[in-house]
Amino acid sequence: MNYDVIIIGAGPGGIFSAYELTLLKPELKVAVFEAGHSLEKRRCPIDGDKIKSCIGCKSCSIMSGFGGAGAFSDGKYNITNDFGGTLYEYIGKKQALDLMHYVDEINLRYGGEGTKLYSTAGTKFKKLCIQNDLHLLDASVRHLGTDINYIVLENLYNELKQKADFFFDTPVEKVSVIDEGYEVHSKNASYTCTDCIISAGRIGSKWMEQVCNDLDIPTRSNRVDLGVRVELPAEVFSHLTDELYESKIVYRTQKYGDLVRTFCMNPKGAVVNENTNGIVTVNGHSYEDPARQTENTNFALLVAKHFSEPFKDSNGYGESIARLSNMLGGGVICQRFGDLIRGRRSTQNRMNDSFMTPTLNATPGDLSLVLPKRLLDGIIEMIYALDKIAPGTANDDTLLYGVEVKFYNMEVEVDNQLQTRHKGLYVIGDGSGITHSLSHASASGVHVARSIANR
Ligand SMILES: Cc1cc2nc3c(=O)[nH]c(=O)nc-3n(C[C@H](O)[C@H](O)[C@H](O)COP(=O)(O)OP(=O)(O)OC[C@H]3O[C@@H](n4cnc5c(N)ncnc54)[C@H](O)[C@@H]3O)c2cc1C
Repeated sequence: MNYDVIIIGAGPGGIFSAYELTLLKPELKVAVFEAGHSLEKRRCPIDGDKIKSCIGCKSCSIMSGFGGAGAFSDGKYNITNDFGGTLYEYIGKKQALDLMHYVDEINLRYGGEGTKLYSTAGTKFKKLCIQNDLHLLDASVRHLGTDINYIVLENLYNELKQKADFFFDTPVEKVSVIDEGYEVHSKNASYTCTDCIISAGRIGSKWMEQVCNDLDIPTRSNRVDLGVRVELPAEVFSHLTDELYESKIVYRTQKYGDLVRTFCMNPKGAVVNENTNGIVTVNGHSYEDPARQTENTNFALLVAKHFSEPFKDSNGYGESIARLSNMLGGGVICQRFGDLIRGRRSTQNRMNDSFMTPTLNATPGDLSLVLPKRLLDGIIEMIYALDKIAPGTANDDTLLYGVEVKFYNMEVEVDNQLQTRHKGLYVIGDGSGITHSLSHASASGVHVARSIANR
């Protein structure tokens, strides 16, 4: 065998598998294959000046490369089983939390020291939310910030590159089963290994599907979350964000009984484009460094859409809606809340008259031409509900960017070691459909590394 262990994907799942494996078993030969660039070469060309929107790079630096989708993320590290994935269903709640705390300690040791850990424990906002039919989920959240997150990754890479072989700009095309192990094929070469860990993330979802088909690994898929990213003056949410940083709030709509939730809150942050397989959607992040902060706070409002038989392609549904917004707006569309409820599109003139400065250059338009009515009704209802705990949320100038889509990878059938039906082939992180966050993906990496080391 060329290697004892080959890891596919250098996102948080892959990085923490490599970290733990090389720590516990330094004698193992480990390689990491990554489709994207090394950390220092990752650069999104959008500069807001010459290049204002996504130009569809061959390898998206926001989603791919060392650090994975998390590299330029806000570095919000949520320690909770309440959201961010269902890892606990495989390994138990206590074990999942212990692993998230373990990774948090590593992040602190590698550059995150001094960053703040926020918590919902004992907060007065729980009561305020319930009084307004809103439900605040429990979590501790470490906010590394995009800048510190980058430093942690840099430090981790400087250590890991001495212990494992890294192959950047090397997408793995195929994984095949051989005697006593696996063969991993890239465009120009093939490498063999005894154990193979696949951590391909959201961007690798289509490829993962192919691997599962080729190797006859069962999967299931039926969910996609759709919605908008809300941007408003930071003062509107400051009482919540100062204490909790991020508040995950769930609301059940009166009209349809659907659940709408806040997601990925970025105080004093920026709204950004995200390119998944050529489809431009919206996301957000913020910096720990006050000099890089903005005057706005952004967060997503998402509605989960579950499908039943015979429809199976939930991600295809999300993609079609995102494509529609790309078709109408040439990318992401933004609309003032006041325009949406008056049934008119936002125009550049109306945007210019607004008291708010958007942080993303998106096309002013009409989100009601893109999002299904039921979903949009739910989002509008929730904005009015949030207005009761954070007055100003339903102001005319509040901006809605669309669409935000949270694709869920199909769930790959794995056991409690996160091992597929093929012995020694593990699928972890967001690519497994089990995790949807930095903390759960990282924890799944440590879990698998320990399983291999113990064996
Ligand atoms: C803008 C943004 C902000 C975010 N903010 C947060 C946040 O604040 N908090 C939070 O918890 N989560 C956040 N997330 C989500 C978080 O980044 C992911 O949940 C996490 O990165 C998943 O880790 P992963 O290792 O499973 O996959 P990923 O991070 O997606 O990494 C997978 C890697 O595998 C590589 N790959 C894929 N296919 C192949 C192949 N065939 N061959 C070789 N390599 C391959 C990809 O290039 C990629 O680098 C954010 C995501 C984005 C895009």
